[in-house]
Amino acid sequence: MAEEKKKVTTIGVLTSGGDAPGMNAAIRAVVRRALGKGLKVYGIYRGYDGLMEEDVKEMHAQDVSDTIQRGGTILYTARCAEMRTPEGQKKAAETCRKFGIDGLVVIGGDGSYRGAQTLAHQGINVVGLPGTIDLDISCTEYTIGFDTSVNTAMEAIDKVRDTSTSHERCSIIEVMGRNAGYLALWCGIANGAEDILLPEKYDYDEQKIIDNIIDSRRRGKKHHIIVNAEGVGHSASMARRIEAATGIETRATILGHMQRGGSPTAKDRVYATIMGSMAVDLLIAGKTERVVGYKNGKFQDFDIDEALAMTKGIDEYEYEIALAMSGGYQKETQKKVIRDESL
Ligand code: ATP
Repeated sequence: MAEEKKKVTTIGVLTSGGDAPGMNAAIRAVVRRALGKGLKVYGIYRGYDGLMEEDVKEMHAQDVSDTIQRGGTILYTARCAEMRTPEGQKKAAETCRKFGIDGLVVIGGDGSYRGAQTLAHQGINVVGLPGTIDLDISCTEYTIGFDTSVNTAMEAIDKVRDTSTSHERCSIIEVMGRNAGYLALWCGIANGAEDILLPEKYDYDEQKIIDNIIDSRRRGKKHHIIVNAEGVGHSASMARRIEAATGIETRATILGHMQRGGSPTAKDRVYATIMGSMAVDLLIAGKTERVVGYKNGKFQDFDIDEALAMTKGIDEYEYEIALAMSGGYQKETQKKVIRDESL
């Protein structure tokens, strides 16, 4: 017989891991949806640190006023080492019980979901929301913050390109994404980069990049933009080697944390609002150990274990189009992709 679920009356919400624009829209939605359904809501500050230190405050509708347009997270965020220990996990569950929190919404990445899982195993109902600019959560084609981040990076790259063209330079622009290349791929396409280096695809054959720069210079191109992913890294040393090999001034720009900030785009505000509301609805429906995702054109929820076990990679067709547009060092790879598909 299915276990009778205890009715959720009090919800907690926290943001954990790296911050992402749109997290505030998600917090706001959790708070307002829960209050609208007659639940009590607590904000937990600095991710799981807040559960260790009992930094927990009741939230009212006005606490989330004027936040939908703000970047960052009003609840602050942290990486909490203690949460990785059994003692820390026990303490976190005790804090939830102390405040009567029987449903917890965790906004963060895969690591934050793992922390949530440990609370679920101690009887706290949990729902995860994908909050990361990296788009590296497998069960979903959308994560809160990616859209804003890619637009921020795109605008910055446009600016670097202007000055790069004026000085007839080669520019290596490193974008974030940790070990995933989604941000770099999108910027590569959106900025019309000559080369796009993704951790999932790059073969570390720098000579191909050098040949491509020389070739495009011969054809009269005034700039050469290389979008490099954080997961490939080493942009500064790469720039020095390329300049030495080509004789063309080459500069590296690492965009860094500016990609995490800024006012969220309409898409991030709207999707985060829907996902935040869904998290509350799932908890009210007695669901636990779920994560909300956006897949095949629909908002859906997944079992947390299954979500963490899923894998995803760079879409081959998108990548092939990126190569076709850039005509970059990957010309050979591009031929290979097309050849492989005809097998
Ligand atoms: P981002 O994608 O921005 O890095 P993330 O949620 O994956 O977000 P992590 O630093 O991996 O970021 O995890 C955030 C927090 O979740 C950790 O600091 C820790 O408190 C908790 N956490 C991560 N992994 C575990 C785990 N295996 N068990 C318990 N808690 C964990």
